[in-house]
Amino acid sequence: MALTQSTMKDEQIRACANEVRASAFDFTNNNLDVTALAIEHGFSVHSCQTKSFIQSFIIVDEKNEIEEVGGHRLIGYNEDIPLERRRRGIAHEIGHFFIHKGKRNDLTDACFEHATPEYIELQNDPEKREIDRQADLFARVLLMPAYQFAESMRKGLEGAGMNRDVSDPKIMQSKCERVFKLLGEDFVVTPKKIAQRIADTDAEIERLCADHGYLREAAARYVQQQDKLQES
Ligand SMILES: [Zn+2]
Repeated sequence: MALTQSTMKDEQIRACANEVRASAFDFTNNNLDVTALAIEHGFSVHSCQTKSFIQSFIIVDEKNEIEEVGGHRLIGYNEDIPLERRRRGIAHEIGHFFIHKGKRNDLTDACFEHATPEYIELQNDPEKREIDRQADLFARVLLMPAYQFAESMRKGLEGAGMNRDVSDPKIMQSKCERVFKLLGEDFVVTPKKIAQRIADTDAEIERLCADHGYLREAAARYVQQQDKLQES
């Protein structure tokens, strides 16, 4: 699955995700209907009984070469995964379509959730890691556009009484985490995705973090905690 040419830069990926989002009928909703968006772009979206380590996958068969797919565009997701992850998976696959279509010999892509030996092998493939990083960036921008995200985060922090720095770091952390959870409900993503979005460098997010000096640190700590929980 070699890339036939170099792919987009992060700035272009952001611009592309914003453009795709703008094409959605409900683009102003924080809870974007990603399934409807995929359908608008010619995909059929199916829940599948699939191996537990597969979260979602995409098959694009424009040349009608795969009998079971018959020239169609498919996105599948594991029926056992919770809604937030399903949405993330669909957004990630839409990202592969817009970023990597025509750039790979084979667009078929599976996103794995749990570490199996095959998965570890894939993770050690720097090219696979890079295209998945790009699709993840696309998914974050698609599901949490910078302007809407920064506005909602400002309101959330204000609601939690965090207009200025809180001196007790433990209280600060727990208030931030409460806001990550609230925003997760709002955008229908996991709180970890909210925290990861704070690390991105979109102009609106940079401004938000400049106004709330503690935010990136709190987000990084939360992501670390979640990663540890997943490992254990
Ligand atoms: Zn992927």
